[in-house]
Amino acid sequence: MKIIVCIKQVPDTKGGVKFNPDGTLDRGAMLAIMNPDDKAGLEAALRLKDQYGAEVTVLTMGLPKAADALREALAMGADKAVLVTDRVLGGADTWATSTTIAGAIRNLDYDLIITGRQAIDGDTAQVGPQIAEHLQIPVISYAQEIKVDGNKVTVKRMYDDRYHMVEAQMPCLITALSELNEPRYMTPGGIFDACKAEITTWGRADLKDVDDSNIGLAGSPTKIARASDKVRKGAGEKFVPESPSEAVDIIVGKLKEKHVI
Ligand SMILES: Cc1cc2nc3c(=O)[nH]c(=O)nc-3n(C[C@H](O)[C@H](O)[C@H](O)COP(=O)(O)OP(=O)(O)OC[C@H]3O[C@@H](n4cnc5c(N)ncnc54)[C@H](O)[C@@H]3O)c2cc1C
Repeated sequence: MKIIVCIKQVPDTKGGVKFNPDGTLDRGAMLAIMNPDDKAGLEAALRLKDQYGAEVTVLTMGLPKAADALREALAMGADKAVLVTDRVLGGADTWATSTTIAGAIRNLDYDLIITGRQAIDGDTAQVGPQIAEHLQIPVISYAQEIKVDGNKVTVKRMYDDRYHMVEAQMPCLITALSELNEPRYMTPGGIFDACKAEITTWGRADLKDVDDSNIGLAGSPTKIARASDKVRKGAGEKFVPESPSEAVDIIVGKLKEKHVI
């Protein structure tokens, strides 16, 4: 079985999001990590490799430094890594990103493609299903559990207050939730090997069946007009009324104070 895992290098948003004056993300001011859902997707692929002897290829589109995320994936146990990087691919929205990634994937053999459900910076959850659409293969999103039996994949799909059991024939694409598993750590031997490993690097010319009008900033129909950090709410006021009528008086008083009533 051949599995491709799409991983995105994202800024670590735990310490807050930092913006440039023009509203774009100040990626240099934040640590770069492997997107959490993608790490769970990689772990799922590595478990299938442990069970069935699959070959796992990790693929990312990004700046040359995104190779760090690929080396981390190799150190965890991935077999091959592909970096898609080219100036003309910069500024891509989800459409241009998925078009580019699909163009790269067309050069590879695969039974299963795993992406994360959603990247913690762009947050759209569109890229995985879009890649499947470009490649004309089925997609199962929000995977909480993945089982493979011959050419059939069965996925426990999270759905609000319940879950669905969904089956598909491979090749197909699955989007993974970080709740899927606990990703393994890199091993010392893995880190050593990953440092020496060769990363296949592709540019625009290597993308298959991709038109110039669908890549990079110029090929992106979505434009981000403005971006800002969430405004935090204040600590608020706490009251401990002794009776329901006192609670009503407090609420009514506050609403009058704010001229709501
Ligand atoms: C604050 C902010 C807001 C944005 N808003 C929008 C928007 O509203 N509309 C829009 O079109 N674009 C938006 N973008 C751009 C968006 O981040 C890029 O298009 C991005 O490359 C893909 O979208 P995403 O991060 O939402 O990915 P998602 O669709 O959330 O990612 C899902 C999965 O796809 C895979 N994937 C995504 N990107 C890559 C990659 N580069 N390499 C490998 N695998 C990948 C990963 O497995 C990931 O888990 C925004 C970017 C930022 C920083």
